[in-house]
Amino acid sequence: MARMFYEKDCDLNVLKGKKISIIGYGSQGHAHALNLKDSGCDVCVGLREGSKRIKEATEAGLKVMTVSEATKWGDVIMILINDEVQADVYKKDILPNLEKGKAIAFAHGFNIRYKQIIPPEGVDVFMAAPKGPGHTVRSCFVAGKGVPCLVAVEQNATGKALDIALAYIAGIGGAKAGIMETTFHDETETDLFGEQCVLCGGVVDLMRCGFEVLVEAGYEPENAYFECIHEMKLIIDLINKGGVQAMNYSISDTAEYGEYVSGPRVIPHEETKERMRKVLADIQDGSFAGRWIAENKSNGRAFFNSKRDNLKDHLMEKVGKELRENMIWGKDNNLDTASN
Ligand code: NAD
Ligand code: MG
Repeated sequence: MARMFYEKDCDLNVLKGKKISIIGYGSQGHAHALNLKDSGCDVCVGLREGSKRIKEATEAGLKVMTVSEATKWGDVIMILINDEVQADVYKKDILPNLEKGKAIAFAHGFNIRYKQIIPPEGVDVFMAAPKGPGHTVRSCFVAGKGVPCLVAVEQNATGKALDIALAYIAGIGGAKAGIMETTFHDETETDLFGEQCVLCGGVVDLMRCGFEVLVEAGYEPENAYFECIHEMKLIIDLINKGGVQAMNYSISDTAEYGEYVSGPRVIPHEETKERMRKVLADIQDGSFAGRWIAENKSNGRAFFNSKRDNLKDHLMEKVGKELRENMIWGKDNNLDTASN
């Protein structure tokens, strides 16, 4: 069983007198920066010159610097730019300004696990990885809650790396939900597996198949959207709250019977698990990482961009947009206040 930490195990005072630089102001970056600032920490945001995020971060009351300046300024440097650009920015702007005794931190272990970034001796290297989207990290914090986080220490130069990591996670709200200790190795592999097989890959393709089958059989696309896509969140919320049994308690016995009869027909367990094991093997032996790095380096993201473009034209996206816009809360597209 994993070691778990909660608020009582974290001491925010560890960050007193320490300066925290958040590199990047996207999904995770804005949430970490704002939550830490609201927790009383001294925070700055490191961004590229000319970045359109400079205005956004400044207007939110944050100090903004270049990535080099932020690395010089901070004691803890949290790297929250896209995984695929981290290694280049690290070499150019972070490493030359990284003094001994500082800490660098990540929210995902990709670059350490696949050796795209090899930190020098003398610095702490830790992970504070929320198990949820950045906008939820912010919305949960605002609501007085938190998103569960993983913590890992790759390098403990100061002897204080774990305490700093736990204080950092408390500062973004994660200690309220629970912090699980892990390694960069395990976090990277399980994170990639989860998003590919279940959370993003699996779920999106399951919903898409359901939507297409109903529409191709002549049912209204609006009906297919409500049934196979919109309702997903309502069902998941129940599971999130009380497990599958709580969801089963809330649905009808007819629905529960259908779950037992037809679930294994569309997800044949042994075959699906065998396919998932192949995905896991690609993650473990580095071939997925190699393909993703190559996709970014050599062909201008041809595959990635064509998939993104195709999705824009899919009927489920068009119908969903129209239906959501007509819901009375439909005009609110601020992800930071999405219900949680
Ligand atoms: P994002 O794409 O939302 O934001 C990236 C930010 O980096 C943007 O502000 C962008 O302007 C900036 N940026 C890009 N290139 C840059 C450069 N060359 N120099 C300076 N800044 C640059 O990224 P994200 O999804 O928040 O991911 C950040 C990290 O968090 C990644 O390691 C990711 O794996 C991890 N993570 C993300 C989520 C999530 O919910 N999105 C969840 C857990 C962990
Ligand atoms: Mg993940």
